[in-house]
Amino acid sequence: MTRQLQIKSYAKINWALDVLFKRADGYHELRTIFQTVSLFDRLRITETDRNIEIVCNDPRVPCDETNLAHKAAAALREATGTSKGARIEIEKNIPVAAGLGGGSSNAAMTLLALVKLWEVELDDRAMIRLAASLGSDVPFFLTGGTALGIGRGEDVSSVEQVRADHLLLVNPGFAVSTRDAYEKLSRLTTSEASSRIPFTLRAARGIRELPLEASNDLEEVVLGVHPEIAEVKRRLVSLGARHALMSGSGATVFGVFDNSQLTEQAASEMRMLGYWTEPVRAIDRSEYQSTIFE
Ligand code: ATP
Repeated sequence: MTRQLQIKSYAKINWALDVLFKRADGYHELRTIFQTVSLFDRLRITETDRNIEIVCNDPRVPCDETNLAHKAAAALREATGTSKGARIEIEKNIPVAAGLGGGSSNAAMTLLALVKLWEVELDDRAMIRLAASLGSDVPFFLTGGTALGIGRGEDVSSVEQVRADHLLLVNPGFAVSTRDAYEKLSRLTTSEASSRIPFTLRAARGIRELPLEASNDLEEVVLGVHPEIAEVKRRLVSLGARHALMSGSGATVFGVFDNSQLTEQAASEMRMLGYWTEPVRAIDRSEYQSTIFE
């Protein structure tokens, strides 16, 4: 019998992203609040004899060993010493290089699925370390929901779960490189960043309300290069969003609405303007953990 698992690979947004300073190792010290949302890729993972093979319906996603799901499988094989292989089919729905963490999510889901399929053992700490070695956002996707990320974002702790049922994701259609965004930031804001108390430090004590006062330190530099993102934010607010913010390093913007009617209206307006648009809701930790395996 073929052993196969189908798994949902959810996208994330960042309710807030504070960049504190550039560290000696070259990474930026962050405080971020992650949130999984109801947009997902679907992974179908089949156990094979030896090789790791990637198939993807989106030509922008590499199918070789640079694919994050491939890297995850190879790293797990190395860590556990198994000689088994896997065929990983990725049905991409999450825009690529869009600040929605699609690749990181695929990597984390590959780890969770292959531990089951290959019947290998890895304790929680080893799993988190392995995830962090694949990318800063990967450990977050092992648990999902609303979470605080510190360090490079890889040190994740759970916070109060935020409820948000009427979110709209809007992507203007160009990719933003995460690395470029951070490089620009260090030139512009390093000195001022350390002098303020970031929202996420206060929020670490527990968010009860939607973090509408939160900001994203990468916005200023990314908006400088891509003013269209500011235009998307303005339009979302004029269409009734209580709050609109760029997610991660962009270019996706999320709008927070009060009801589904306003959300749907805004979605159709934004689609008419040619933007990729998706109404979503926040997925909390318990829903995340009970729905990823289909
Ligand atoms: P992050 O915010 O974690 O940097 P992102 O959402 O901005 O992520 P991704 O969609 O994860 O960006 O893609 C980043 C890059 O990784 C893309 O240029 C893409 O070619 C590459 N990549 C490798 N594997 C994958 C994958 N499984 N899914 C999507 N992109 C992948």
